[in-house]
Amino acid sequence: MLQKKTRIVRIGTISIGGGEPVAVQSMAATKTVDIESTAAVCQRLADAGATIVRIAVDSKADADALREIRKRTTANLSVDLQENYKLAELVAPYVDKIRYNPGHLHHFEPQTAWQEKVKFIIRVARENDCAVRVGVNCGSLDPNLLVDAESGKNIDLMIRSAVEHSEFIDTLNFARYCVSIKSSDPATVTAANKRFSVICPDVPLHLGVTEAGLLPEGLIKSRAAIEPLLAEGIGDTLRVSLTVSNDRKEEEIIAGKLILENVKNGTIHSGIWQRAALNIISCPSCARVENDRFVALAERIYDRTRVIKDYPVTIAVMGCRVNGPGETDNADFGVWCGIKSVNLKQKGKIIGTFSYEEIVPKLLEIIEENHK
Ligand code: SF4
Repeated sequence: MLQKKTRIVRIGTISIGGGEPVAVQSMAATKTVDIESTAAVCQRLADAGATIVRIAVDSKADADALREIRKRTTANLSVDLQENYKLAELVAPYVDKIRYNPGHLHHFEPQTAWQEKVKFIIRVARENDCAVRVGVNCGSLDPNLLVDAESGKNIDLMIRSAVEHSEFIDTLNFARYCVSIKSSDPATVTAANKRFSVICPDVPLHLGVTEAGLLPEGLIKSRAAIEPLLAEGIGDTLRVSLTVSNDRKEEEIIAGKLILENVKNGTIHSGIWQRAALNIISCPSCARVENDRFVALAERIYDRTRVIKDYPVTIAVMGCRVNGPGETDNADFGVWCGIKSVNLKQKGKIIGTFSYEEIVPKLLEIIEENHK
């Protein structure tokens, strides 16, 4: 596998880019404040071959927990920041990489320009020997780009966002960053990353299909998106985001290694994901998941809807209210978890909130009504 020469970015004990072996990553889905469980899952993933493990941090309590988690695992840790970019300062001493999403920088302190927020994150990263990932996601794009009437399709907006942030970080003379451009649609991931690698050829890329979902589709979609990129030498690190329970998280690493093996052996996927009538998009869950019943719910929805063969239906199933409302916008039906109930919408319009017992029959009823 001959990778394109991007610049080398060190992340803890490993490096990505510059022809280094492609790194396989995963993410903990335990509550971050549950120090014991989170440290255990990080170590399990590292032992299974994860070169970087990501942890979500949304509060000071999460940041305090991270200090303890750091002591209990040898994994290279990456922190996933949501809106409160200032938490970077609290967690950076205990992690090797900080990941921020340009689309999430606008909600907290909206009066502060995103450039000031990025400057803050980069200063903190520099002072704490951390790398940075700019994680652009199709379902949570920068709202300033979305209101731009000239901006066009989501794929163009994703690339614009990634290039804009890369160019800005370059002006800060900070080279230890990589970029990811993710979508739940494999063809979009392939096309967007190809285009970005032409515009910014030296920036290392982290590859992945966001919300790839349950097996086997989650792996099929990831193969379709990632293998053609790696075969062209694009990509320095990857994650196969699967909707699996915490005790099965290693399957993301096994899947990532399988993809690398396929590319090495030339047994790659055709590059086009042939969607069936039913397309379930579901997140891999993380510390933000509102209820542990999420994975079982996603599996139940998959089992009960797989009889759909005659008409196309996309159902998005998300684990939390942080990303659920936005990431379900483009699906025919969107479901996202709350603590005690589950929210349902149809083509972006809220239908209501239902209990964990009611939601699947309700979803089936609405799908059926729409296709009488
Ligand atoms: S939708 Fe929520 S629970 Fe699922 S991965 Fe994203 S942030 Fe985590």
